Amino acid sequence: MSRVNPVHTEQANAISTNVHKFGGSSLADSACIKRVLTIVRRHCKKDDLIVVSANGDTTDTLFALFELAEAHDEALSSAIESLKLSQLKLIRELLSIESGQPLIEALDADIKQLTFWLLNQPQQFTNQILAFGEVWSARLLSAYISQEYTASYTIDARDYLIVDDAKHCQVQYEASQQQFNQLLEDQKLAVITGYIGKDSKGEAITLGRNGSDYSATIVAALAQAKNVTLWTDVDGIYSADPRVVPNARKLHRLPNEVAKELGRLGNPVLHAKTLKPLSFEQLPHTVHLHVASSFAPEVLGSEIGSFGEIAKQELSVTRLNDLLLIESEFLKTEQAKIAFEQFSVEQIDHELGFVVVQQHTQQQVTDWLASSNVQVRVTPIALVAAVGHNIAQQGNMFARFKRATKSAKPLRFIQSSNNHSIIAVLKENCTIELLNRVHHAMTKDARHIGLVVAGLGNIGEVFLSMLPEQLSRHHSLENTYLVGLLGSKKALIRDDGINPALAKALYEQHANDYDKAALMEWLGNHPYDELIVVDLTPSEEFSDYYQEFFAKGIHVIGANKWAASADTPQYNRLLSTASETGSLWYGNTTVGAGLPVNYALNDLARSGDKVIEISGIFSGTLSWLFESYDASVPFSTLLKDARNQGLTEPDPREDLSGKDVQRKLLILARLAGFELSLSDISVQNLVPEALQTISIDEFLARCEELDDYFEQAFSDAKAQNQCIRYVAKFAKTSAGYKAEVCLAQLGLSHAFASLTPCDNIFQIKSQWYHDNPLIIRGPGAGREVTAGGVHSDLVVACQTLNKKSKPVEIRGIN
Ligand code: ASP
Ligand code: MG
Repeated sequence: MSRVNPVHTEQANAISTNVHKFGGSSLADSACIKRVLTIVRRHCKKDDLIVVSANGDTTDTLFALFELAEAHDEALSSAIESLKLSQLKLIRELLSIESGQPLIEALDADIKQLTFWLLNQPQQFTNQILAFGEVWSARLLSAYISQEYTASYTIDARDYLIVDDAKHCQVQYEASQQQFNQLLEDQKLAVITGYIGKDSKGEAITLGRNGSDYSATIVAALAQAKNVTLWTDVDGIYSADPRVVPNARKLHRLPNEVAKELGRLGNPVLHAKTLKPLSFEQLPHTVHLHVASSFAPEVLGSEIGSFGEIAKQELSVTRLNDLLLIESEFLKTEQAKIAFEQFSVEQIDHELGFVVVQQHTQQQVTDWLASSNVQVRVTPIALVAAVGHNIAQQGNMFARFKRATKSAKPLRFIQSSNNHSIIAVLKENCTIELLNRVHHAMTKDARHIGLVVAGLGNIGEVFLSMLPEQLSRHHSLENTYLVGLLGSKKALIRDDGINPALAKALYEQHANDYDKAALMEWLGNHPYDELIVVDLTPSEEFSDYYQEFFAKGIHVIGANKWAASADTPQYNRLLSTASETGSLWYGNTTVGAGLPVNYALNDLARSGDKVIEISGIFSGTLSWLFESYDASVPFSTLLKDARNQGLTEPDPREDLSGKDVQRKLLILARLAGFELSLSDISVQNLVPEALQTISIDEFLARCEELDDYFEQAFSDAKAQNQCIRYVAKFAKTSAGYKAEVCLAQLGLSHAFASLTPCDNIFQIKSQWYHDNPLIIRGPGAGREVTAGGVHSDLVVACQTLNKKSKPVEIRGIN
């Protein structure tokens, strides 16, 4: 589950142990368990460790049996029988007769024992009774893995996990570790029971409801594992409970300390104790915890661990209803502090003398206070909290929080001692409406956008140099981060972001070789809400990646013309994939650099106008050549001159061939809503055939051979008081359309006749712009205007992406 960095693959990760924990709903029936096997095959190595909860709601059923027994209810025996049948059904559906037989025998014996305890001393054997759920579940999964995949064995946590029950289930790590190590077997996959353990006298205990997550992190600490994955039925941790806050976003990466605070404040996926073992002092490294859905294992979940600044900016909002606030002078004492350790009291403030108590501990705490003869004041309350790294130290956040909660007239505000949460204490339960309001106010529903810049040449460099200022200037770019730089062979990818002000230097120092497969893998697993690839390469090969980008929901902004001028089937496939996955594709600078011709055409099409004709001069080089040429010097001299000034491609035949203009015309015609391919546009190559395939040097040596043609064309035009221009023209006709790119004779008053050399001009005739066409004119090439045009696309893309929200599929919790 750990992310692969295409350029920094951590070898050590590949050999370390990982823990995988499967929750009850992931093991609820045979279809679920089959799904789990697929995950095990894909993600578990032989020395990984699997921790399981009881199948489905078996623990609830065991509790129910216990109550029936206490009440001497006659329904007990039939309830036991149906529990047995449900286990038998799983065994029969998953295991062959041969591998199922020992499990059926063991189940028979267990049911006898269970019945005996229930009928005789249910109180004394409560924990032993509850343990059956996890024992059966582990036994079944292990047998199934052995049968289908690889040798496996079970470990009963009562054989190694020693916890101090009175103190929040504190683990005796050293002793537990010794016993744990003795139970491990080589070359076999261990399936370990969650939820249960033993006390120092060896009596069975449980870790509390939903305690298997805690079991998993304890196992990770004991096994020195680097990753723990909680396979559950939600695909991650959200910025608020997505069942009630539709704008909630998945938090892809959450710092440990923030996750702990979220768990403490009632996050339904992260239980308060789960994260404790991850900071176990004796751990020589940081353990990362992943939350993923066993129902959608391909969806990237949330990762909890230690991360850099970007992840520390994540915010979330949570509520806890039906609480009690208990206030007393006594609570300020050291004695109270010690006494309260035994209850899982979620909010304590000794200095101020109050505690906040959750429903399940209310009775316990009030009884205890009553018996201690202490004067207390008890008020029913609720909490709503904003949680984020050091949030309490950010004055503006606190002010925002106060404004957002004002209408609920909070009794008081509390800031947690670790500064990672600010909490409003409310007189009444926090409504869904209030929760949404606070979420919106605190997170601004901001989405984190990652930026990968490909192509670090001329335009790339200017684009990057403009980036820091752009990022700080635009509100919609507030949460946009540069995370990748791709050159033609080397790449620098950083989940934690690349300082854009140092981008070039960081790239030069740290970029490594990369291969396409690893890059694609990272792009499919990046920790951002949205990812934009800014393609500033001229590379056809890179444009071949677009299909995969779009398939992964990645957005593309580019000056690269290849994909937008690909042949019709390929182009349509790109468009349809992008629309299926919601990928944006902006290419304002593919034609006319920053000139807003692409925008104008898009806008006309969107507004309902119909384009009839697009024409103009689309090449800065050819614009310069024909604006400057007056036959006073040979054309070839002018051409070499242009080449020396850097106005042509290194091989000027690329300009003279008209291919580039042809591509641009195709892109524009497509934007206007026409379906055509490059081959549908006729193009006049200004290079005579004899010079087309020779080497550059030879071409430059022989380029006087061009002169006669242009001299003739010029004087023919002049005789009619006209000029020559290299023109592109697409026109709708009654039969369809006509599209061509060629040297044309134009009247001297024609709109294309007198341009500033190098300028482009685009003339659009449409239903609305009919008698007097729309003209866009200006520099159609250049580093600044091109990079600026890409930035303009970036702002629009980020504005659009910030408004997007992804629907969340939720099954239940755990
Ligand atoms: N089976 C136990 C419960 O339902 C433990 C767990 O699922 O985590 O509470
Ligand atoms: Mg559970």
